[in-house]
Amino acid sequence: MRTQVAIVGAGPAGLLLSHLLHLRGIESVVLEARSRDYVEQRVRAGVLEQGTVSTLVSSGAGERLQREGLVHHGIELRFGGQGHRIAFEKLVPGRAITVYGQQEVVKDLIAARLGAGGQILFEVGDVQPEGIDGPGPGVSFTHQAERRTIKADFIAGCDGFHGVCRDVIPPGVLTFFDKEYPFGWLGVLAAVAPSSEELIYASNDRGFALHSMRSPEVSRFYLQVAPKEDIAAWPDERIWEELRARLETVPGWSLSTGPVLEKGITAMRSFVAEPMQFGRLFLAGDAAHIVPPTGAKGMNLAAFDVTVLTRALAAWYSSGDASLLDGYSQACLRRVWRAQHFSWWMTTLLHTFDHYDAYDRRLQQSYLDYVCSSAAASTSLAENYVGMDMPEH
Ligand SMILES: Cc1cc2nc3c(=O)[nH]c(=O)nc-3n(C[C@H](O)[C@H](O)[C@H](O)COP(=O)(O)OP(=O)(O)OC[C@H]3O[C@@H](n4cnc5c(N)ncnc54)[C@H](O)[C@@H]3O)c2cc1C
Repeated sequence: MRTQVAIVGAGPAGLLLSHLLHLRGIESVVLEARSRDYVEQRVRAGVLEQGTVSTLVSSGAGERLQREGLVHHGIELRFGGQGHRIAFEKLVPGRAITVYGQQEVVKDLIAARLGAGGQILFEVGDVQPEGIDGPGPGVSFTHQAERRTIKADFIAGCDGFHGVCRDVIPPGVLTFFDKEYPFGWLGVLAAVAPSSEELIYASNDRGFALHSMRSPEVSRFYLQVAPKEDIAAWPDERIWEELRARLETVPGWSLSTGPVLEKGITAMRSFVAEPMQFGRLFLAGDAAHIVPPTGAKGMNLAAFDVTVLTRALAAWYSSGDASLLDGYSQACLRRVWRAQHFSWWMTTLLHTFDHYDAYDRRLQQSYLDYVCSSAAASTSLAENYVGMDMPEH
């Protein structure tokens, strides 16, 4: 087999890259370890920055997103017995976020690729990128019990944090920046209409809670829990009880409950690998960096990386100009670090830490109060939350 760009991973990064490359007339093959059904059902992020929405819509993959996505013009920070709205329409006029499940983005992109005759090989095993430091790299893999190799001009490592591509870069090339948080998030998907029109970020002495949603019928909740917490310790009744305790803190507001569709615990971590490239291998999305989900940046960063990579590959194929490819990491890392800082900042602002004493907690509450009462501070939160502009693809 031969293609121009071999893409490892059919998450948002790999699929969007394949789609954008196709629009530029560049061929790719996507290799995915899981089944189509699995990746289309995998519940993860759900907040799209305006720039991500623009990219999906202008590339022709946003028709259902425009129909079904929920456009939000603000979020609520809830603490000290009060709700405080961060009003995007006032603070960052003309900008908003859209709530639309990551698995829906994945479904739309798979449909777009397959509809255009694109190749996605699901359920591949033993994926092995090869020859990344020479002009003719390739990827070996097992598919339908047969060992195969695909030759390409470039390899895109879009295989997430636990993928294999980052590990084939020779030792000493990458520098890793890593931060583990002393808590995890228990995520819950429930068949109940959201109790609020907008997301609620609640800071509470019992720990952080987030009320989110995926559609008018499906709510998404998160609870700060111990990092190695056992999900078996969280029967549904305990989850609802804890969500009520952390969220029902303003007069007249109550939480609607319903059947739990899915629940799981995710560790909270920040990670960056620099540079995001070596030879003919380019890392994008979670393969190169992860953020705690408090700032809702992971999927949006993946979209940004592959937009930058598409432009760079298009320049190389059209004129042989390698300058954008050479500058890929640098072009991505500026935004990656902004998102790293914002995600760390939101996490630190809203969670409780075991080492905090009463003084630290008062400082945190004072800062929350400042963020909500100062136009400068709330504008800073709003502009980071809705995200910076996305380049043309
Ligand atoms: C468990 C989890 C929960 C999350 N929850 C949230 C959330 O609630 N809110 C939020 O804002 N963000 C969340 N995120 C972050 C967000 O979902 C990611 O930033 C986003 O998925 C990044 O997209 P990606 O395409 O780079 O990576 P991924 O979506 O991880 O896609 C990588 C793909 O590569 C495939 N793959 C891996 N290894 C191989 C291999 N060896 N060969 C072939 N294919 C391979 C994987 O199966 C996967 O399909 C979560 C992430 C995780 C991991």
